[in-house]
Formats: sequence, C-alpha cells, structure tokens
Amino acid sequence: MDKSKSSSTSKKLPRGRKKGTRITVAPSNVITAMVERLSLKGEIFTFQDVADSLTARSGVRVTRVTVWNFAVKGIEPRDNGLRRALGLPVTAPGRVCPVHGKVHDKQCRAAKARRLSDLPTRALAWRIRNRSEYAPD
Ligand SMILES: [Zn+2]
Repeated sequence: MDKSKSSSTSKKLPRGRKKGTRITVAPSNVITAMVERLSLKGEIFTFQDVADSLTARSGVRVTRVTVWNFAVKGIEPRDNGLRRALGLPVTAPGRVCPVHGKVHDKQCRAAKARRLSDLPTRALAWRIRNRSEYAPD
C-alpha cells in the first residue's frame, strides 16, 4: 500500500457510512472497564448507554459528557450526586476560611500574607485567638 497516496485522497472519501451498512458494535475498552467497575447491567455499548444506566440506578441525571469526561479525560465531577453515581468518594467539606467565612477553591489571599502585619484585621484576630503558647521545654 502506498501510504502517501491513501492520505492524499482521504479528504475526498465520503464521510460517515452508507445507509444499510452494518458495522460491528463492540464497546470500547473504556466502556467495558466502566461496566465492570460499576457493575452495570444490560446492553451497554456507548457512553450514552452508561449515562442512561447510571441515571436509572442513581436517580441523578448523568449525561454522556460527564461519563466521557470522567472515563476518557479523568475529570471527576464536583457534584456529590454525580460522584456517588460514578462510584467516587464523596468529598468532605473543606476547611472554612476564618477571614472570609467560606471554603476557598484555592489558597486564601490572607493565608498567603507573609508578615503578620500584612494580614487583614480579622485574620490577625483569628491568629491571636488560635495561637499556641510559646513554651520552650
Ligand atoms: Zn479567605
């Protein structure tokens, strides 16, 4: 086979498949692995099938994009319902920031401040309240 010739004509080939043409349907390794790990029942060949099966079982709406992101890209959903549906550990709530009173995605700006004098007043007050006494020996 002449490789350069086949690649040069590839764009002229019709896309898709002709009507009535049968293709062999076999689930990809990724899908097979998901079916086994989540012990899904029934005929599951596509990411849509996986999503439908998980939706039916968990009651949480799982989309094929969520399944694909997780299985192919390794992106875990944040939503706890989706995490449960995918058999992932549900994340514990993060530590609430003493300055801003919420859980930060990234490190808090106040926590980054190097010097105590750079801290916002509320953070400094929290540091003083929660200090451990300096006691050598
Ligand atoms: Zn903060």
